Amino acid sequence: MQIIHHLADMTRWSNEVIAGGKALALVPTMGYFHAGHLSLMRQAGRLADHVVVSLFVNSLQFGPREDLSRYPRDLQRDARLAENEKVDILFVPTSEEMYAPDFNTRVRVNGITDTLCGQQRPTHFEGVTTVVAKLFNIIKPHCAVFGQKDFQQLSVIRKMVRELNWDIEIFAHPIVREEDGLAMSSRNTYLSSEERSKALCLNKAIQHAKARFADGLDDSDLLISEIRDIISANSGVNIDYISVVDKDTLSDKEVIDSQSVLALAIKVGGTRLIDNCFMGSDSQISN
Ligand code: AMP
Repeated sequence: MQIIHHLADMTRWSNEVIAGGKALALVPTMGYFHAGHLSLMRQAGRLADHVVVSLFVNSLQFGPREDLSRYPRDLQRDARLAENEKVDILFVPTSEEMYAPDFNTRVRVNGITDTLCGQQRPTHFEGVTTVVAKLFNIIKPHCAVFGQKDFQQLSVIRKMVRELNWDIEIFAHPIVREEDGLAMSSRNTYLSSEERSKALCLNKAIQHAKARFADGLDDSDLLISEIRDIISANSGVNIDYISVVDKDTLSDKEVIDSQSVLALAIKVGGTRLIDNCFMGSDSQISN
């Protein structure tokens, strides 16, 4: 595995691979790898001849009062972990090269970025779409893998790719969880052990929702109020949103069906955590 820092070197490498007729898969990340990231890398390895993993803590997607400066970083550890996967290039650009001092372009997907996470984090998704657009142009992948953990992000990226006519196939990877059900996240490192056990209410809520839907419950207001009770039973946990939305349009659903997604965001102490589940079969996420 090679580590590339400069944008021009990255593009040169990609151009050679593409000229040789080989397929290239990209896994964009902010690093501090966990088993979820590694699983995305393995999926990318099955999809293409070569895998590029980008590692960039993207300042544009953090709000002014968010955790940019304390976001966990450890390049040596990440390089060791990626090395064990079928990764050809770990692309680690600098902020200076990605965003020149006069950088003033944004790629923005309207509408579906106004709800869920976009409501609390108004500039978050334009930060994501701007950096992903840049990565697509620098690396020119044939496909890219994103996690369903960030379900809204996945929908936004798919819409951007479709509407900007990029010939890049977007694949979704199911949520990778710890043994006790907590969705893996680099931000879990912020949690104290007490907070970590409180955070399990997210998975408890998801299990409850799946069981209630399987039993025939289709009233989303009722389900949301039951989930509110499960989460509120934990002191120090604040609900950002509990929503049942359509998997494509992200608009609220009154009646839950197999196209619905339960999306959750909470704050445990100072740490914001998200989770979600498809009410129908998980295989829907690939399309
Ligand atoms: P991040 O480094 O947190 O920006 O995540 C990089 C990619 O990994 C994104 O596409 C995330 O959705 C995905 N990802 C993060 N955590 C998980 C997880 N627990 N399961 C599956 N994918 C994940």
